[in-house]
Amino acid sequence: MSVKRIAIFGSTGSIGTQALDVIAANPELFSVEILTAQNNDELLVKQALEFNPNCVVIGDEKKYQKVKDALASSNVKVFAGEKALEEAAAMDCYDMMLAAIVGYAGLKPTLKAIENSKPIALANKETLVVAGEIVMQKAIERRIPIIPVDSEHSAIFQCLVGEGRNKIEKIVLTASGGPFRGRKPNFLVNVKRDHALQHPNWAMGAKITIDSATLMNKGLEMIEAKWLFNLKPEQIQVVVHPQSIIHSMVMFEDGSTKAQMGLPDMKLPIQYAMAFPQRIPNKFPRYDFRKPDTLTFEEPDLKTFRSLALAMECLNQGGNMPCILNAANEIAVFAFLRNRVGFLDMTEMVERTINKIPFIEKPTLEELYHSDGEARNFAATLIEM
Ligand code: NAD
Ligand code: MG
Repeated sequence: MSVKRIAIFGSTGSIGTQALDVIAANPELFSVEILTAQNNDELLVKQALEFNPNCVVIGDEKKYQKVKDALASSNVKVFAGEKALEEAAAMDCYDMMLAAIVGYAGLKPTLKAIENSKPIALANKETLVVAGEIVMQKAIERRIPIIPVDSEHSAIFQCLVGEGRNKIEKIVLTASGGPFRGRKPNFLVNVKRDHALQHPNWAMGAKITIDSATLMNKGLEMIEAKWLFNLKPEQIQVVVHPQSIIHSMVMFEDGSTKAQMGLPDMKLPIQYAMAFPQRIPNKFPRYDFRKPDTLTFEEPDLKTFRSLALAMECLNQGGNMPCILNAANEIAVFAFLRNRVGFLDMTEMVERTINKIPFIEKPTLEELYHSDGEARNFAATLIEM
């Protein structure tokens, strides 16, 4: 394998920093060409000095001069602002984009990379939730692989390798259940930000950690799976598996079920996506099947964790509904993280927004951008409720 030149969009986040660990451990396989961050200029500069990319993009334009000055002695180009993200994605200097920006902000740069015929290692699930049909269509037209980084989707992808045209009966997405598994609404109503930010199995960015606590994350993942693997909603099942050892499963038409397993560590799916189709050795800890342990499975509690039920509704309805769901959820999670709304208010905000914004069955990209804006504006009005 020759050196693969990676562009990391969202390099200062949980996925981005772990990807850089993988790259640092495999300098003969990977180089870094683009790094981007929204606010964390100090970490961006540190990464740029260590990995010497072609360019960096700082989202917050006020920080441009500071980053520029800090990198003056290097030959790293510095750009700033939202538009610069798309311009960087359109550059020729890289071989693969790791899409690791959080939220809707990841959509446009990822689309630009696909239009630029660059393979995508996709962590940013919101891209497919918002515009899955359009994104996948563009990727198919350009024959661009979209290789999932999300652990569940990486598991399914790995289970499908070698299966050719064999049909999938269903996929089983595993969910840890988050920090509040088994809890009821009378408990959840009082949950505070810091408690919700403590995930039992995974250390992740703030937004996805809150999504994991409400189970919205699993709903977003069902929608992500629909587009990645071309599935019907009824082929996608969620099962709670608190130990997070089985990362997901595929059941084929003969009933045979494949699972991908391992300790919960995002470096593995990140490394798999970047190196695909090759597997590369590493020193990550291994799961020991000899140690006494019990793997358990249960149905998700859709009555308590209504965000998952709402996401399932949007998955079934299709059109612009997942886009509206995502926008409302981003506003709600952001408000919760700022202690502006309670834990259960997040679900309420999402529900009211999906009932409010007009349904479009086959939205264009422009219509999706519009629905996103409408949903955000409406959801924001609910913060004072
Ligand atoms: P994070 O919050 O830790 O990092 C987000 C990154 O995106 C940062 O580099 C930040 O600077 C950048 N960013 C934030 N807002 C931006 C904006 N408006 N414009 C441009 N850049 C912006 O998030 P994360 O946990 O690393 O998650 C990244 C993506 O990967 C999310 O879509 C998440 O759902 C997905 N994912 C994460 C994990 C995980 O373990 N962290 C697992 C599966 C999937
Ligand atoms: Mg996941």
